[in-house]
Amino acid sequence: MAKPVIAIVGRPNVGKSTIFNRIVGDRISIVEDVSGVTRDRIYAPAEWLGKEFSVIDTGGIDIGDEPFLEQIKQQAEIAIEEADVIIFITSVRERLTDADEQVAQMLYRSNKPVLLAVNKVDNPEMRTDIFDFYALGLGEPYPVSGSHGLGLGDLLDKAISYFPSEQEADEDESIIKFSFIGRPNVGKSSLINALLGEERVIVSNVAGTTRDAIDTSFTAASGSEFVMIDTAGIRKKGKVYENTEKYSVLRALRAIERSDVVVMVLNAEEGIREQDKKVAGYAHEAGKGVIILVNKWDAIEKDTNTLKKFEEDIRHEFAYLSYAPILFVSALTKQRLNQLPALIEKVSRNQKLRIQSSTLNEVILDAVAMNPTPTDKGRRLKIYYTTQVAIKPPTFVVFVNDPELMHFSYARYLENRIRDTFDFEGTPIRVVTRKRK
Ligand code: GDP
Ligand code: GDP
Repeated sequence: MAKPVIAIVGRPNVGKSTIFNRIVGDRISIVEDVSGVTRDRIYAPAEWLGKEFSVIDTGGIDIGDEPFLEQIKQQAEIAIEEADVIIFITSVRERLTDADEQVAQMLYRSNKPVLLAVNKVDNPEMRTDIFDFYALGLGEPYPVSGSHGLGLGDLLDKAISYFPSEQEADEDESIIKFSFIGRPNVGKSSLINALLGEERVIVSNVAGTTRDAIDTSFTAASGSEFVMIDTAGIRKKGKVYENTEKYSVLRALRAIERSDVVVMVLNAEEGIREQDKKVAGYAHEAGKGVIILVNKWDAIEKDTNTLKKFEEDIRHEFAYLSYAPILFVSALTKQRLNQLPALIEKVSRNQKLRIQSSTLNEVILDAVAMNPTPTDKGRRLKIYYTTQVAIKPPTFVVFVNDPELMHFSYARYLENRIRDTFDFEGTPIRVVTRKRK
């Protein structure tokens, strides 16, 4: 199930990003550490009272050279399109403005639940100043203070009460969900058409809810069922904001979240760009299966070294994706494209692989025999037992005497031993160290 989405809207300087950061908290990103990728703070996972959701700060989506009011309106439109619940932020210090009223009207007509927050209510005395905001017609205003972290609990309590109920349709685990992710013009639409145009693929649209309406179901020659998750903007181009980079990144992140396997599409003619790394990093962190597809392979001059050189560049630029298979294809000539469904299937299978504890512990024991555990200040790391606790991605817990003694490089070594023994191609795996109780 896709996680519910809360979108934050409002004119500049009311405190949207302050409140976004409060809600999201300080999550440490593995990929930022590893690869120096900095993440735009426009979309992030969050949690309140055990409910997981995503938050969008629409204020971070800059829409070209449009005039100020037009930008806010388009941001509001994005919120209406993407969100389950909208938090509309105003500021008690600047009072009501025309822009507030115009946005309020759009939200009012949207049929989405809208919560009106009045920010910068930094002390209780200021609470009486919020009554003017009833005039917006969006119900009771919530006084909050982003910088002091006040009132956000009540706001979130209310927001999560609007989330769709969770027991909606049990999803069929055997259906493989995947998406093509990549910058504009890398050839995503062409790949989709080439894949669906294959004679042996049976297309059988389409999932029920509005949000999923652009997804495509099909059955491959192997008999396996797939759902291709479309990032709007591939099929449905048009609105001004859909061409902005930040919005396309946002759509990509949303599609990744709903996918089991992410097919990261690169353009052989252009090589690797920053945005590719950012998006791939997100897929990695989210624990998704990843395949790297180099498209337009027909369009470049090749000699015997071209493929090897390209592969080396990819391995260098996406160092944390060392497990991802790389396929060089052409949507135009269909070169090697017929290998893709089987590869997606394989990666999906590897994501769900479960290793028996007895086998796993033999592997770890062998690994330790070959390369003894590290010591620190005369104390040696002792590994008692290892067990797999999750799939998608496969996650292993190593029980030890003292987790502090597990050096990063040793954890990496164990991960590599696990990878050498079992086929986890295409999927990240996680190795977590815990103290044995
Ligand atoms: P955005 O443009 O809507 O994302 O607004 P920002 O989050 O960047 O905040 C704009 C300014 O308002 C910054 O200087 C913040 O420090 C300030 N600000 C944000 N929240 C509060 C608040 O609760 N009280 C006060 N006094 N200032 C705030
Ligand atoms: P999208 O924006 O990622 O969906 O990219 P499109 O599928 O719209 O393709 C962008 C352009 O690249 C179009 O002009 C396509 O005809 C062209 N294109 C796509 N795939 C290939 C390919 O494999 N080889 C060549 N030479 N051109 C391609």
